[in-house]
Amino acid sequence: MSSSRRLFFALSLPDALQQQVIRWRAEAFKPEDGRPVAAANLHLTLAFLGEVSAQKEQALKTQAGRIAQTGFSLNLDDLGHWPRPGVVWLGSKRPPRALLQLAELLRSQAARSGCYQSPLPFHPHITLLRAATQPVAIPPGTPGWPFNANHFSLYQSSFEQGRTRYHELAQWPLGPQDKS
Ligand code: ATP
Ligand code: MG
Repeated sequence: MSSSRRLFFALSLPDALQQQVIRWRAEAFKPEDGRPVAAANLHLTLAFLGEVSAQKEQALKTQAGRIAQTGFSLNLDDLGHWPRPGVVWLGSKRPPRALLQLAELLRSQAARSGCYQSPLPFHPHITLLRAATQPVAIPPGTPGWPFNANHFSLYQSSFEQGRTRYHELAQWPLGPQDKS
């Protein structure tokens, strides 16, 4: 018997950054703008894998463990609204090359393992509000928080008791950051 799980690779926000973001969000948006994502669920997806068998999960973990990539610092200085999926997001005007390379590697490994990958360009973002399908007044600026990524993780997504929960299954370190 093979069981499958809904998986994705992502960067999680350090606790202090989570708290800064949700405190700011409470001031920056109105309740009718959308449904706030729970603090513990704030993340930046690198590659979405979909429903994956235990065997494929093992292969994906082995490949992820072979990635030799440096860590990076992301300046969270961009905000936007995608009305169609109803998402208000936090991102970076200039995502570091190391982030784009990491996502690209994970996505190509996923595609080679048979996980469908969207042809849309990768736009690194952290979803702040969902169900934001009406016009939203996007605040003019963000505090521009620095987000230091020194590891990436594999998550299982499940829907339990009416809520989406993410469970970290594994994590891998990123190497020391380039000082250049
Ligand atoms: P829910 O769908 O239960 O409302 P969710 O979207 O956070 O919550 P998942 O659908 O399991 O949970 O998605 C996990 C992560 O993968 C999220 O960051 C989501 O935006 C992203 N994701 C989901 N589906 C895709 C997809 N087809 N392509 C790219 N990213 C996706
Ligand atoms: Mg979803």
